[in-house]
Amino acid sequence: MSGKNQPISGNDLARFSGPNTFMRLPSVNDLAGLDVAVLGVPMDIGTSWRSGTRFGPKQVRSESAMLRPYNLATGAAPFDSLQVADIGDLAINTFSLSDSLRIIAESYDAILNYDAMPLAIGGDHSITLPILRAMARRHGPVALIHVDAHADVNEEMFGVRETHGTVFRRAHEEGLINPSKVYQIGLRGTGYGADDFAEAAAWGFQQFPAHELWGRSLSALSGEIRRDIGKLPTYVTFDIDSLDPSFAPGTGTPEIGGLSTMQALELIRGLKGLNIVGADLVEVSPPYDTSGNTALTGANILYELLCVLPGVAYR
Ligand code: MN
Ligand code: MN
Repeated sequence: MSGKNQPISGNDLARFSGPNTFMRLPSVNDLAGLDVAVLGVPMDIGTSWRSGTRFGPKQVRSESAMLRPYNLATGAAPFDSLQVADIGDLAINTFSLSDSLRIIAESYDAILNYDAMPLAIGGDHSITLPILRAMARRHGPVALIHVDAHADVNEEMFGVRETHGTVFRRAHEEGLINPSKVYQIGLRGTGYGADDFAEAAAWGFQQFPAHELWGRSLSALSGEIRRDIGKLPTYVTFDIDSLDPSFAPGTGTPEIGGLSTMQALELIRGLKGLNIVGADLVEVSPPYDTSGNTALTGANILYELLCVLPGVAYR
């Protein structure tokens, strides 16, 4: 086996002890030599309904202590070939959303200078706009796989243009994403009118409403998306509210009739082979997650994303 960082084994140290890092990986400050940097963005001041995602990173890390290194379903062994560590939380300014977004973008510029693939634990979805700004500076406009109950393409909310509900309109306006390679999966819920999603579709966004996916395997869809994107740099943003509230109740803006956990696994596992340059898991709100199941699911989704990054070994 490689000399790469390994999660602490549950056979060496009881899973309920040890560091509160992602999968109990080493915590590092120096990013030199890292292939993947796991980080927390503990923020909920971009939310419009229920808050609490500031506690997301801490709780997702806590639940991730149960994860083992080898993916029994796919054969992925990410820690055989990738150097992965937890670089801690970004020092956001909890009294200022705009300042926090600036801090996130600047932090990402620094991470990307090290050629580390960032894997972020949110935080509300507003974190993804500054992330995409940094991604576009590094890679040009990226393909975007956006799994969410919501399209997050509002013009503004209470006059504020940067919130968790406006991310992908701003990203489109700023040219951060390649609009014909944007895939919004799991959209649903009540709306304001028939054209809520139509404008984004006209920009080129490809939308896959949840009700069209009910009862279906997402493996085929994932394969179609993979072929459509080809080799383009791709960012994956996974809003936990894409899942049905029966699977993931601990989130700020739940919508019934969502994806199943199993569909999420099919979707992510089908992305293997893409040139993924970073990913995030957002909107886990521990105060509404009484069983811890939402954070556990979020931790597993991050692990599955890790398993499809470029360079992962398979056994
Ligand atoms: Mn969202
Ligand atoms: Mn959402």
